[in-house]
Amino acid sequence: MKRLYRFITFLSIILPFVCSSQILITDHSEAYRKLKERGEVYFRFKADINVFNSEMVKALSIDQIDSSGMIYAYANNKGFEQFKDLDLNYDLLQPPSMILKPAMKAAVDLKNLNDWDFYPTYEAYVDMMYQFANEYPDLCTVVNIGQSEEERDLLVARISDNASWEPGETQFLYTSSMHGDETTGYVLMLRLINYLLSNYGVDPVVDNLVNNMDIWINPLANPDGTYYNGNNTVFGAKRFNSNNVDLNRNYADPDDGPHPDGYEYQVETEAFMAMAEVNHFVMAANFHGGAEVFNYPWDTWSHFHADDAWWYYVGREWADTAHKYSPPGYFTDLDNGVTNGYAWYTTTGSRQDYMNYFHHCREVTLEISSNKVLPESLLDDFWEYNYRSFLGYMEQALFGIRGIITDEQTGLPVKASIFIEGHDMDNSWVASHKEDGWFFRPIFEGSYDLTFFAPGYEPKTVEDVEVQTRQESIVNITLKSTNSQVIEHLPDELFTVGPNPGPGHFNLHYNGHRPIITNLQILSEQGSVILQDATIFNGYHQSYHLDLSAQPVGIYFLIVSDGTASATVKLILR
Ligand SMILES: [Zn+2]
Repeated sequence: MKRLYRFITFLSIILPFVCSSQILITDHSEAYRKLKERGEVYFRFKADINVFNSEMVKALSIDQIDSSGMIYAYANNKGFEQFKDLDLNYDLLQPPSMILKPAMKAAVDLKNLNDWDFYPTYEAYVDMMYQFANEYPDLCTVVNIGQSEEERDLLVARISDNASWEPGETQFLYTSSMHGDETTGYVLMLRLINYLLSNYGVDPVVDNLVNNMDIWINPLANPDGTYYNGNNTVFGAKRFNSNNVDLNRNYADPDDGPHPDGYEYQVETEAFMAMAEVNHFVMAANFHGGAEVFNYPWDTWSHFHADDAWWYYVGREWADTAHKYSPPGYFTDLDNGVTNGYAWYTTTGSRQDYMNYFHHCREVTLEISSNKVLPESLLDDFWEYNYRSFLGYMEQALFGIRGIITDEQTGLPVKASIFIEGHDMDNSWVASHKEDGWFFRPIFEGSYDLTFFAPGYEPKTVEDVEVQTRQESIVNITLKSTNSQVIEHLPDELFTVGPNPGPGHFNLHYNGHRPIITNLQILSEQGSVILQDATIFNGYHQSYHLDLSAQPVGIYFLIVSDGTASATVKLILR
């Protein structure tokens, strides 16, 4: 709170002063020319904090606010129109990706690669990803999670000791450059993949990570933005995707709901949402440029994350490690390299808030270089500054509370939710993995009471679980089935289904506000079970997709139950 206070006090002192000296720009022709040429425009301005109503925050893509209170922002056509109405003076800025022409490599031979002082062409990048998998088939596979609007591949290198997930392994995700003109993380992630693969069996730190985790690394989340000027150069890269949408404002927001930016989910967003849906990431980071700071949740609202103390500790560890291996001045923005997102500037639709709130995954936004497109000769230095922090942050996914939840009678894994009494809020709770029953709960040192809930089971509380820094605390538990008949009825309006009648794809909408764990069952008219699943609705207008397209037309019954009460919905398939 102190940091937020200092920031607001600072703005309220400086802003009235700078605003009064401004001269209005009335000729916007240069901005329009740039918008026409690139679909986005980059500019800076000073404004009263009152400008920051939620509408303006959504219209503009604020890039950063520097220590003098200068606001740097991008806008597409629609955003610029709204900004123009504020009648503020502004400076148009050269796109950060057009200041220098980086050295590109069109072919990279991994086996003979000694220097990382280059950016790969798009084709060389794709080739490098598949070389990793080919060179290290026992450790690495490449997952293509989808394609960008312009049909470039969204690739993930998946690294683990058996090249896939095994029961008990933590899933971890690094992704970079969802802002296409912030390319430092792009090359550093390629290098991290190479480092993990080539140091396996050599470095015990790497062995520990690769043996105990399922690591996903996506170096390039917005290839259309990065290769806006064609596949052979990152010069002229854009922040937005090819529809001029800021991908880091395009996710469902805990506060503002779906489509907070007013745009459809972009194909890039959909690919990442689908990846998050089928996996169980415990921790993640997404890399950006333009500043040097560990920016942790929340972005959307001012109250702190339940794990604020943990976030600050992990952020400090990142920054302090980077300071140790870099010249003075690196990674010192805000509170010496660490900030809460909202305390810096608020955004809606950010990926970190989405992952934290909707997927219970600790994701952070890492601003890794003030210079968005680093000269290639500096990429090696930035690797040196940061690679220990990359590894240290990953290691944190192995600490805290973990354990396996099983059915007392059958011994089978149970998908349960784990709440920490008096601590968890805003979906900071975690769930166990349905396939192996394992849960992972990174948390600050202390003593905690854990309650385990699963539909159809009696809740169980384990008190006084001690957590120490950089240690794991194991809590394995069994849950007892209630075997009880569900007799109560959930309110009819709690769940709605559309389109109903429908041709086969139904969406079950949850209209409540509190998180709810549900068992879902679809029965045919004759009473046979067509589908059985369990899911958690996050206290929010969330949908669950029911696919009956392979079934014969007719009447079906959907039974939704939370273990003590149920609702039945008639589905008509035509
Ligand atoms: Zn960014």
